Amino acid sequence: MVVGAGLAGVRSIEALRAQGYAGRITLIGQERHRPYDRPPLSKAVLLGETDSTVVDSDLDALDVRLCLGTAAKGLRDGVVETTEGEVDYDGLVIATGATPIRLRGEGRQHVLRTIDDAIALRERLVSGARVAVIGGGWIGAEVATAAARAGCAVTVIEAGETPLAAALGPDVGGRTIPWYAEAGVELRLGAIVGTVDPGGVTLMSGARVEADVVVTGVGVRPAVEWLKGSGVELDDGVLVDEHLKTTLPGVVAVGDCANWWSRRFRRRLRVEHWDTALGAPDTAAATLLGEEAVYDPVPYFWSEQFGRMVQFAGHPSGGRQGPAVRPLWRGDPRTDAKWTVCWLTREDRLTALLTVDRPRDVVQGRRIIEGGRRLDLVKLADPAVSLRDC
Ligand code: FAD
Repeated sequence: MVVGAGLAGVRSIEALRAQGYAGRITLIGQERHRPYDRPPLSKAVLLGETDSTVVDSDLDALDVRLCLGTAAKGLRDGVVETTEGEVDYDGLVIATGATPIRLRGEGRQHVLRTIDDAIALRERLVSGARVAVIGGGWIGAEVATAAARAGCAVTVIEAGETPLAAALGPDVGGRTIPWYAEAGVELRLGAIVGTVDPGGVTLMSGARVEADVVVTGVGVRPAVEWLKGSGVELDDGVLVDEHLKTTLPGVVAVGDCANWWSRRFRRRLRVEHWDTALGAPDTAAATLLGEEAVYDPVPYFWSEQFGRMVQFAGHPSGGRQGPAVRPLWRGDPRTDAKWTVCWLTREDRLTALLTVDRPRDVVQGRRIIEGGRRLDLVKLADPAVSLRDC
C-alpha cells in the first residue's frame, strides 16, 4: 500500500512494478485530484500558462486501486485507518509530503501547496492588486515573480537580513536583492510578521503593510501527524535509515516527509525537492522487496525567479570531506547576469554549488560532488573554464 498520492507515491508504484512486484497495490490520497506535479504551481499555473500538471504516469496500466479523497488517520498492526475505513497491508510506503505553515491572525492568507491553492491565488493576482508575500525563500520569490508579472504591487516581507538567508546564507542570498527592485517588487528585510489581519499584515514592530492579497510562504512541516503512536519513529518527518526503512518492519518512507541517513554527507537529510521525490522510490521499492539498496544522492533543486533559472546541488555540510569553509564565485553577481557560487571544503573539494543561468555548471558540479575530487581553484574562479576541466 502507498499512502500519499503525490510524485513520491506514484513513483513508488512505478518502481514496485518495474522491480517485478505483481501483487495488489492500493494508493490512498487525501486530495481529490489525480497525482500531479507541484513545481509548476508557482510557475506556469500562477502565470496562467496551464491548469493541469498531472503526473505523466498510467495508473490504470500499473493496476492500482486508487482511493482519492481518502485520508490516512492512523497506523497499527498491518492496518492503515482511513477516513473511509481500514485497509490492511503487507508492505507500506509512506509518502504524505508536507503541509504549509500558516501564521496567526484573522485575515485571509493564501498558501501554495495544492493545485486548488494555486488556482485560488491566481484568480486574485490581478493588475493593481496589492500583494504581500510573507517569506523571501524559494516559494516567496516565485510568487513575487508571478504577481509582479500580473501587474500587482508586490511587497515581500522577509524576517532575515537577505532573501534565501536560511537556505544559502546572507552572503549568497544578498546577491538576489537587486532582482526584486528590477522586477518592481518592494523587499522589506528584517521584518517579522506578527499577525495577518483583514486588509493586510501587522509586523512585530507594530508597522502595517496594507494588502488586498496575503500569501504566506514561510515553509512547511512534514505531514506525519497521522503516524503518532504507530511505532514509526518521528523526528522532523519519518526517521528512515539509508535503505529508507522506518522503525516499523515492512514500512518505508520517501519524498518530503522522509528524514533519511545520508552516507555521503554523514548526517540526516530531509529534502523538500522534486528530484528526491522522483529518485528515492527506486530504493524504497527495492527495500520493500527485500533487496539491499542504499539511497545516497547529491540533492538537486531548481527555482525560476525573476526570469532567471536558479539551480542548486549538494549540501554545504560536506560529509566525509568536511564542511564547506568558503564560497568561491565564478563570475561576479554584481556585474554578470550569469554566475555560479561553489562551496568548497578545506581540501578544495566541491560540496555544493548554486548557479544562476549556468545549467552546465550545475550538471558538471553535481558529478564532481559525487566523485569527490579536488579542484584547481585558479581555473575554478574563471567562469570561462568548464567546471569539468577544473
Ligand atoms: P507531495 O507532493 O506533498 O505529495 C504528498 C501527498 O500526500 C499530497 O497529495 C497530500 O495531500 C497527501 N497526503 C498528506 N497527508 C495525507 C494523509 N494523511 N492521507 C492521505 N494522503 C495524504 N521542488 C523543486 O525541486 N523545484 C521546484 O521548482 C519546486 N517548486 C515547488 C513549488 C511549489 C508551489 C511546491 C509546493 C513545491 C515545489 N517543489 C519544488 C517541491 C516539490 O514539489 C516537492 O518536493 C514534491 O512535491 C514532494 O513530493 P511528495 O510526493 O513527497 O509530497
